[in-house]
Amino acid sequence: MNPDRVELVRKRFGLTKSGFAAKLGVDRRTIQRFETGEGEFPQGCLDKLCAFSGFAREYFLNPASPEFPNPDGVSFRSLRSLTAGKRDAAMAAGAIAFEFDDWVSDEYTRPPHDLIQADDVTPAAAAAQLRAHWGIGLRPISNAVNLLEAHGVRIFSLAEETRHLDAYSLWRNDKPYIFLNTTKTAERSRQDAFHELGHLVMHRHKGSAHATAEDEANAFASAFLMPRDDLLAETTWGMTLTDLINKKKRWGVSVSSLNYALHKHGRLSDWVYRSNYIALNKYLKDLPEKAKEPDPLPHETSQIWIKILQDLWKRGFPLSRISAQLCLPESQLNDLLFGIASDPSAPHNRMLSQI
Ligand SMILES: [Zn+2]
Repeated sequence: MNPDRVELVRKRFGLTKSGFAAKLGVDRRTIQRFETGEGEFPQGCLDKLCAFSGFAREYFLNPASPEFPNPDGVSFRSLRSLTAGKRDAAMAAGAIAFEFDDWVSDEYTRPPHDLIQADDVTPAAAAAQLRAHWGIGLRPISNAVNLLEAHGVRIFSLAEETRHLDAYSLWRNDKPYIFLNTTKTAERSRQDAFHELGHLVMHRHKGSAHATAEDEANAFASAFLMPRDDLLAETTWGMTLTDLINKKKRWGVSVSSLNYALHKHGRLSDWVYRSNYIALNKYLKDLPEKAKEPDPLPHETSQIWIKILQDLWKRGFPLSRISAQLCLPESQLNDLLFGIASDPSAPHNRMLSQI
């Protein structure tokens, strides 16, 4: 039994050592001793562990230790407001994603990343430099996930039902990774994706723990999604909430971000900005958390993962076989892969249903 793998699964399920011990019907010290390498895994508990976690026995017997995201290198927007359990669960999802990603890398060559480093300019300048580098001028971004994937960013989804976790990103072996909590609105996820891109581009070397890092990443996201010149060319003075709802689709942003950006660029007076803000809150008041956006956009998904899963399927590797090979539950992979595997309209599933 590999204690690191047991610990990973314990954390993935958001369990404390006591909670985990209770699930297995042993005392906390037994788990403590096992995880620190001072004791054996309690006899007869492996079946219970497999049953509640869905991980195969072989997963825990694999002597290779999983690689956790290094917390020092991770931009974790709301690290401070997350409970340790939720944070560990999200990091454990990252460790599972690395294992899958490495397995995929043995099978497929993906393009290297095409990100610049811009750590000595303003966020707006960094966003403009990256747009120029990618040759997209001032054009609106129709699909954030696909744009980032096309430039070599590896994107996984997190299906974490916690309001405080938006996204995190990191560099690993010179590869940029973004983990997006896709239980938010599509507009929020797009904004989170570019917020993380800002960290990857501006904070790779100096880290994202400094006081202004979050504001810089937010400013980067806003400038990348809504370049100032395009924003000013496409909007008029004094736009009301209804105008903002009609216009936000151009940039695929939330009404709230558009209102904020227009005010920042002097397009809206303080008074109009505040009136819009109050009207928006009134509009959203009774909506559930996941749908807190007027006229919401559909959620984005990954094209790369669809293509890879489709190709694997053609080669006789449906997700069930990949999951068996990696000894990981399909549900864990599915949560990391934008729910593609369980989506009946996804191409590889359409192919399956045509048999
Ligand atoms: Zn951040």
